[in-house]
Amino acid sequence: MLNRRKFNKYFPALLGTPLLLSCDDKPTVQSTSEPLIISTWANTNANTIAQQHLLKNDSALLDAIEKGVNSVEEDPNDTSVGYGGMPDNSGEVTLDACIMDKNGNAGSVTYLKNIINAVSVARKVMDNSPHVILSGEGANRFAREQGFEETDLLTDVSRTAYEKWKKKAIYKPEINIERHDTIGMIVKNKSGDLSGACSTSGLQFKTPGRVGDSPIIGSGLYVDNEVGAATATGLGEVILKSCSTFLVVELMRQGHSPDSACKEALLRIKKKYDINDLQVGLIAINKNGEYGGYAIQPGFVYAVSDAETTQVIDSKSIL
Ligand code: ASP
Repeated sequence: MLNRRKFNKYFPALLGTPLLLSCDDKPTVQSTSEPLIISTWANTNANTIAQQHLLKNDSALLDAIEKGVNSVEEDPNDTSVGYGGMPDNSGEVTLDACIMDKNGNAGSVTYLKNIINAVSVARKVMDNSPHVILSGEGANRFAREQGFEETDLLTDVSRTAYEKWKKKAIYKPEINIERHDTIGMIVKNKSGDLSGACSTSGLQFKTPGRVGDSPIIGSGLYVDNEVGAATATGLGEVILKSCSTFLVVELMRQGHSPDSACKEALLRIKKKYDINDLQVGLIAINKNGEYGGYAIQPGFVYAVSDAETTQVIDSKSIL
């Protein structure tokens, strides 16, 4: 995975004429060859895994997304997702994840413990249960029934970080870009269908029981195969109160480009909350293969792949 500090700046060319009326003041960006995969942060490895799956089998859209997201969940060096994710204030790692498909089906797990691939459990909730969200012990019980193994998610690094934090034990969500590594991935395959997923261990040293935006459909992720898809990272509490990804998709439906829709959704947050101390990053794609992203603070990056290339893009920001 690329270090996000060493990302390449990508200056996309204006390609093609968007079919949707754009309300943006900036040029829209369009992929040159599909599939189009975009992920929060510099998750280039996850994108490449999804890309390779789709190039082999374009219709296996959810498999591609799941495998891409699994790679981040299994990476001990990513301290905000899956194995190696930072614990809550009791020292326990708890995971939130969701997945949504082109038909509007969705599955989600919240407050899941001891299972690395939370997004895969979310997919099982979607496919093998009559529900959308399973939480806590119920989610774990369901996962065990589905054949998932339980394991300790703490690594030496996250255990040591927790022991150090415990000495002062002050909870303060960091606006710092390095503290948000949640992966949200949204994809348009060659056939033109959209799907997405999101996975996180949430904010480090959170109160036990806390659930963020990432597993909540319409907050951390939203997909409407007629219009577009969006996913979020950052301070879950404001994303939750703003239904940000649902809003982004609805703004695209009204004619906003992905960039413009993300920006407008952040401006709605700005109207109500003091945004100086918080970060939210939003990314979106639409049915025409246009994509974009916007953040509150500078420093947010997102990874974009098409059939041939993978780039890390420095997001625009409203501050
Ligand atoms: N949105 C995630 C949460 O609030 C955190 C993040 O994106 O870093 O749980």
